[in-house]
Amino acid sequence: MNDTVGENVGSEFLKDDVIQPFLLESTGIRGRIVRMGPTIDEILKRHDYPQIVNELLGEVLALTSVLSSLMKFSGCFTLQSKSDGPVKMLVSDMTSEGVLRGCAGIDEVALKELLDKTEDHSTLSLTDLTGKGYIAFTVDQGEHMERYQGIVALEGNNLSECIQGYFKQSDQINTGVLVNVAQTEGRWHAGGMILQYVPGDGGVNQQTDKDDDEIKEDWQRSMILMSSCTEDELLDRDLAVTDLLYRLFHEEQVRVYDQRPLKEGCRCSREKLANVIKTVSLEEVDSYKVDGVIDAKCEFCGRSYVFDDAAIAEIQKEAAQS
Ligand SMILES: [Zn+2]
Repeated sequence: MNDTVGENVGSEFLKDDVIQPFLLESTGIRGRIVRMGPTIDEILKRHDYPQIVNELLGEVLALTSVLSSLMKFSGCFTLQSKSDGPVKMLVSDMTSEGVLRGCAGIDEVALKELLDKTEDHSTLSLTDLTGKGYIAFTVDQGEHMERYQGIVALEGNNLSECIQGYFKQSDQINTGVLVNVAQTEGRWHAGGMILQYVPGDGGVNQQTDKDDDEIKEDWQRSMILMSSCTEDELLDRDLAVTDLLYRLFHEEQVRVYDQRPLKEGCRCSREKLANVIKTVSLEEVDSYKVDGVIDAKCEFCGRSYVFDDAAIAEIQKEAAQS
């Protein structure tokens, strides 16, 4: 194995649910590889969506983890689509600590109709499923920090293409993404890779005297190397991500950094829901009641929070006092 690979890496390599940062030292192109196993399996199986929705949401989860892992922030990164087709919404978010969750909003009648009339579901395009709409990503760093938001129309063959389109519009930064999602032996797993070149943000060995044509050439070569990665390679948990990086980028002097774990988790709480109840009118609160109580279910994790009249009165009393 090349000397550079393995440097800065702890003795224990994670096979699954791992984020692997790396740098192509000859060009200053940064990247991340993400592998997801139990994390994505747990999230998708909890919801029990149709297979085709699992595949889409799996892509969103994989994209969320690669995009957010490349950003420097402290808080939460959200990727969310909204559209007018059978799959109305896809959302996933990840904290800077690597805690991931996700869910989808489906028009069940429209989806059933579409699936019933389509013989081979693999022929369905992204927009056959989502209809017209957009996908947005937001970085939320708490109430005193500015929120960063990017938005792009739902277009292209898949969600990766769509996201890549966004970075193409904002021409300052070259970004390439690749994600794969599959279910084998009943278990979901996913992989993702991202490359990014930010001018002036290179590695220690980056040549600073390169002209635009050379930079362009470096970028195109790296993108070709990334796209030569097969689905099997990206998803094969027996192929260490460091070995995969060396296989793909050995001529680019790839350096790997400390791996980071990622895991599944939800940030919902009774307190957050109580805060929502505080902001709505009495009539609206009443309209949410079923059999005299509000039973709010978290869309992400399915946890149920029940507020009876006494609990609601207490919340409204607090709201009046503050
Ligand atoms: Zn929850």
